[in-house]
Amino acid sequence: MGATVRDVVVVGAGPPGLACAERLHQAGLDVAVLEARDRVGGRMWTDTALLPGTAAELGALMIHGRHVVTHRWAAEAGLTVEPYPTTQGARFVCRGAVSSTLRFPVPRPGPFGPTAFLQGLRGIPRALDRYAGPEITFAEFLDRGRFRPAGRLVFELIHVHTWATDAEEIGVLAAREEAAQSTEPFGFRNFRVREGYSELARRKARFLGERVRLGVRVERIRWSGALATVEGRDRTSGEAVSRTARRVVITVPLGVLRAGSIVFDPELSEAKRSAIRTLGLSRAVSVALRLRGSTLRRRLGRFILLWGGSASSFLRPSFESAGTDEVLVAFTAGREATRRAALSDRELVDATLEELRATIGDTASIGTCDGYAISRWVTDPFALGAYSFPAPGSHPSHRRALAAAEGDRLFFAGEATHFAGEPATVHGAIETGRRAADEVLKSRATTGS
Ligand SMILES: Cc1cc2nc3c(=O)[nH]c(=O)nc-3n(C[C@H](O)[C@H](O)[C@H](O)COP(=O)(O)OP(=O)(O)OC[C@H]3O[C@@H](n4cnc5c(N)ncnc54)[C@H](O)[C@@H]3O)c2cc1C
Repeated sequence: MGATVRDVVVVGAGPPGLACAERLHQAGLDVAVLEARDRVGGRMWTDTALLPGTAAELGALMIHGRHVVTHRWAAEAGLTVEPYPTTQGARFVCRGAVSSTLRFPVPRPGPFGPTAFLQGLRGIPRALDRYAGPEITFAEFLDRGRFRPAGRLVFELIHVHTWATDAEEIGVLAAREEAAQSTEPFGFRNFRVREGYSELARRKARFLGERVRLGVRVERIRWSGALATVEGRDRTSGEAVSRTARRVVITVPLGVLRAGSIVFDPELSEAKRSAIRTLGLSRAVSVALRLRGSTLRRRLGRFILLWGGSASSFLRPSFESAGTDEVLVAFTAGREATRRAALSDRELVDATLEELRATIGDTASIGTCDGYAISRWVTDPFALGAYSFPAPGSHPSHRRALAAAEGDRLFFAGEATHFAGEPATVHGAIETGRRAADEVLKSRATTGS
């Protein structure tokens, strides 16, 4: 007896995998989802064990924008979305003095004033818009301009650190092309899922029930004939797993595609392989620290985000609660993330605490750290990076090439395939899953199979 032929196999149960499978299932198709991890959600990953009532996000943290699809997802899942006042709640530390974004008179002694803040937020981005030369990196651009150190600090937080990379790796022209596509500017209207992004993924996946199989690492996709075969291995039992379908939707991260963790037989088109090589792939490590008896809250108020221009920013997931026990999440980016990912857990926590102490100086005491949770996205075999970014030489056309279907057999989704200005986000990833589902439905209608 021949193997069951499904309409569609979806590889990966992150936001686009779930969105795609949901839409196809609703359209009446026979869908199977294969996911390598023992959980759904991918780069949405929340720790709720460190401190009761605190959803500490180790992956995606915010919902960026007021109108994006994630709000609807959360409402459908019965979850609470609330404002996450990142910009207003940010504290910048510059030369040992702490300032808020609203009052930026700060560092003493020093030549900085509120203009430095305006420069970081408006002046430097406008200067970038006016730049008319050949492609250079953000670092080269910043070095050439005579910007105030504090202005540069604000700019680097919003326009470099949020890409989870270093200024030496982002292309000025590439970033401008990317930004031109975006409908809502980054950084000003942010929200969070109170119960955590992991809960959102779990609730969305419920709808699909046993159509989602966890713990299966896909290793090969054969797609030469009228059908495609997805081959993998159950990570617990070692058992070989094979699924045959008319179409396959691939939603694995750019890092997984670049590493060649999945063999395509025949290989993917040159346009797609070139896109996989050219798009920037950022690096991050997240460390959630449980701090007991800290004076951070008393000394720095209801800050949400602490940043001193080093490799890490420190985010507070439970900004509304009182007391001296709290969780801070350190988001470490770029080269330093790669270096720290190689450290042991203890070394990594110590390095992070040391950086936190150096950042706040004698402004406050961080108390005692007696618990932590870690995610090394840069070496995680099912992510192999944080997310895609505009590297020099990359262009939204590379994202289009990555998104393009291969024949009527293979379809692609995932944050890196978002070519309309919202890559590197959860909502962008969801949109790509829906786009891929629509392409599958259109292909069925056109080919009649
Ligand atoms: C530290 C960090 C902070 C972030 N902050 C934000 C934020 O504040 N706001 C925001 O909107 N976005 C944020 N993002 C980005 C956001 O998390 C991603 O854009 C989004 O989750 C990507 O979804 P995706 O499905 O493309 O990839 P993923 O979520 O990674 O899903 C891909 C799935 O494929 C699976 N997979 C991989 N390899 C295989 C294989 N061989 N076989 C089977 N399955 C496989 C993976 O396990 C995963 O479940 C952040 C990301 C990181 C890492």
